[in-house]
Amino acid sequence: MYFPWEDYRSFAADYYNALYDFNQLPPLTKTAQGHVNPETKEEAKQRLLFDRATMSRPTHPPTQILYQGEVIEAKAQDVQSWDVAPGVVPLRLVGRKPKCFFGLLKSFIGTSLMGFPTEPEQVHLLLKSNPAFARVCGFSHKKKDREEYHYQQVPSRRKLEQFDQIMTAAGLWDRIKLSEVRTNLTRGVIRPEKEWVGDTTHYHAYSSFETVRYEDEKGKQQKKSQSKLTKPCRCEDWEICPHEWELRDTGAGTIVKSGKKMIWGHKASVIGLPEQGIAIDAVAISDAATHDGQTFFPHVEKVHKDYPELAQTVRRVLYDSACDDASLKKRFQDDLEIELKASFNPRRSKAITKALPRGIEKITPYGVPICLAGHELNYQGIRYATEKFIYRAPLGDDGLSVCIGCEEKAQCCNHSSQSGRTITVSFDTLKHIDPNDPPMAKRFKAIMTRRPSVERMIKRLKCDLGDDRLSKRGNDSFQAYLDKTMISYHLLIRHLH
Ligand SMILES: [Zn+2]
Repeated sequence: MYFPWEDYRSFAADYYNALYDFNQLPPLTKTAQGHVNPETKEEAKQRLLFDRATMSRPTHPPTQILYQGEVIEAKAQDVQSWDVAPGVVPLRLVGRKPKCFFGLLKSFIGTSLMGFPTEPEQVHLLLKSNPAFARVCGFSHKKKDREEYHYQQVPSRRKLEQFDQIMTAAGLWDRIKLSEVRTNLTRGVIRPEKEWVGDTTHYHAYSSFETVRYEDEKGKQQKKSQSKLTKPCRCEDWEICPHEWELRDTGAGTIVKSGKKMIWGHKASVIGLPEQGIAIDAVAISDAATHDGQTFFPHVEKVHKDYPELAQTVRRVLYDSACDDASLKKRFQDDLEIELKASFNPRRSKAITKALPRGIEKITPYGVPICLAGHELNYQGIRYATEKFIYRAPLGDDGLSVCIGCEEKAQCCNHSSQSGRTITVSFDTLKHIDPNDPPMAKRFKAIMTRRPSVERMIKRLKCDLGDDRLSKRGNDSFQAYLDKTMISYHLLIRHLH
């Protein structure tokens, strides 16, 4: 595995500083003398429910749509990047020599590159079972005659958990991810494009839910799935201890898939470059139950901020029909000067059967007329003077119009020429179709063929470099998992370039 360690020196220094702080933290104790948290579990359920981004009247300042991690700044600033190298750990950390940052980082990224989820449990399994992998990462297996701790030995699962936890809390996974993408941009591994494409995807949560009943603003009884509650402490009796109730799995929610299938999971929004087929960013959504129409704008705004060199060239963004909304399109134009192009959402399921030209049986919700003989008519364009859409009968396999020799001629048009039947349909008949951007047009279709490239990017991230079943709870772990996967993904792209 090609791994120029010098590029990660400043992250290593930040990690050791954060580790120093971590070691100074007092252990979580049972304080609990006298004071009792007056909030009941039931009250906490309601409070946490109304704090969610998907509630129509969030109490406090509305929760952000995208997950935003709270980074704990390291107090210790002693370790500098020139103090560290693979196998060289700073002196400040007295006592047991800590495990080498570079070895730990390699282990996590290597695990993902081998197609396994980059989580401590899996990393530990690989280091234990695969001596060659452990050696590449700079670790060795315990020798029989040396039973005591040695910093070069394969780290324990607890140490790997601790490393992951510190990297997450200090915001280091996120910063390394940003740095990998930026490196790929400056080295020309990724070229800026005029279009971005986006979508969301779900991961199965490692938790279960309960159904919380509540009263909506009209006083009506409602219910919603929510993560079960827990407390961060180890007090014996949670009902009377002073600590606050919290969600066991923040960010998890019910995701409704096509066919009304429901999934209890976490949701991520992914943005990428359609021509090169490369994912640029993946972000956890604060509440997985959030509708896709709400997640795209804040995510595009974030990528715009994070990668100015990409923002300079982007003119258009592509999404599925969840974003087919006039006010959202206007917002993209006004705030970011970007055109939002979304797959057409007809917002009706029935075909149009009234006020049709002769010989036409129906027009589908997508604006495609079908004639009595069952042929789909081709869209030709617009006659603006009379406010009409123009269609023409297609050609058959012989290259001649299907109208020639058609048995329905009598009901349709007896004197149609060699070129076949042409019809016009008034804008009023297809009120749900925007004449300025008709989805039947060739240009519209040509642009939208680039949208599904995001599905391939998601498959890469979710299946080839990990797993869609999470093994940890909480949005902080979920975001860290996405970041670790993105780091491996961008290292891989650079390697294959
Ligand atoms: Zn407690």
